[in-house]
Amino acid sequence: MLSFYPGPSKVHPIGLEFIQEAYRNGIVSVNHRSKTFENLYQNTEAVLKEKWNIPSDYHIYFVSSATEAWEIVSHSLVLEQSAHFFNGAFGEKWAFYNDFWNPNSIKIPFSEQVHLSEFIQNSDIDFSNSDTICLVQSETSNGTGQTIRRKDFSKSSNAIIAVDATSSMGGIELPWIEADVWFASVQKCMGLPAGMGILICSPMALERAHKKGRKNKYNDLLFMEENRQKHQTHLTPNVLSIYLLNQMTHYLPNIKNTEIETLAKSQVFEDFLNNFDNKSCDFLIKEPLLRLPTVLTFSGNETWIKELHKASEKEGITLGKGYGKFKNNTFRIANFPSHTQEDFHQLIQFFTHYGI
Ligand SMILES: *Cc1c(COP(=O)(O)O)cnc(C)c1O
Repeated sequence: MLSFYPGPSKVHPIGLEFIQEAYRNGIVSVNHRSKTFENLYQNTEAVLKEKWNIPSDYHIYFVSSATEAWEIVSHSLVLEQSAHFFNGAFGEKWAFYNDFWNPNSIKIPFSEQVHLSEFIQNSDIDFSNSDTICLVQSETSNGTGQTIRRKDFSKSSNAIIAVDATSSMGGIELPWIEADVWFASVQKCMGLPAGMGILICSPMALERAHKKGRKNKYNDLLFMEENRQKHQTHLTPNVLSIYLLNQMTHYLPNIKNTEIETLAKSQVFEDFLNNFDNKSCDFLIKEPLLRLPTVLTFSGNETWIKELHKASEKEGITLGKGYGKFKNNTFRIANFPSHTQEDFHQLIQFFTHYGI
């Protein structure tokens, strides 16, 4: 079975070797206060920074999921008011959960067909009182990928910026210095079994956490940072997942090269699609530069899409269903580093026979 679901998705095949290795070398039984674990944490932080080009003064934390990271931002970083810009279901959910922590926060929905920066330039919404800006780089529900730029938020000069990059982190290079908090779950672009999230924070984010000064949550960022300084975690973490992320990151090339691969695969599919004059589906997002290269999203007739899922399953290919308000009239194709050129050729072969 070949899964193009945008998460959980196809797990990278090499992962099995790393799992077996983790059993053989005993890492799965290791105590999280031991030297072995501390070395693993330290090395994983180092290799992620090296391979993903993350600034050296940003810090990496292991959490349970992207959903948990939403809440960590809400309770450890937002002072009075966050501003949530969203154009899809994930950004909206984050804003929803944040409301329980920070009822004065503001929600700023915008169309999925415009760039965030363009929307901000043409809008008179006042977010100058917001101390935290919450953005979604990879809106997995509709396949939009935003360019994240600090200068778009210069109106709220003391604000920190937190970005959900759950379905792009590990597949494309992210502009780390343009935001203070970045997070993702491992079962999307990182091609690992589900069960862990990673949270990346700038010195400004930590400064904010100190200003807020809370330490009364088990997963408070300050508490996590205290542990990180000893290369430990605040709770017993998913050591196997940390190990797999470590090994996978050593194994994969630098993110710049991975990104080239990612763009090449999405181009192959786009070229294929462009060969058809009367096609039954097309990119949901009209503006090519606004499309997320890691989650290709297509709209089409509901019945046609239903039949398409049935036919692809017969061929052993799982396509991603639509999500949220696009549940029935879109389908999605994940383009993660675990998906090879050969996987995409197999997909194109299926579409060639089935029709598009
Ligand atoms: C999948 C996803 C999440 C939630 O991830 P979990 O691992 O279920 O916590 C959050 N945001 C985006 C953009 C996602 O794609």
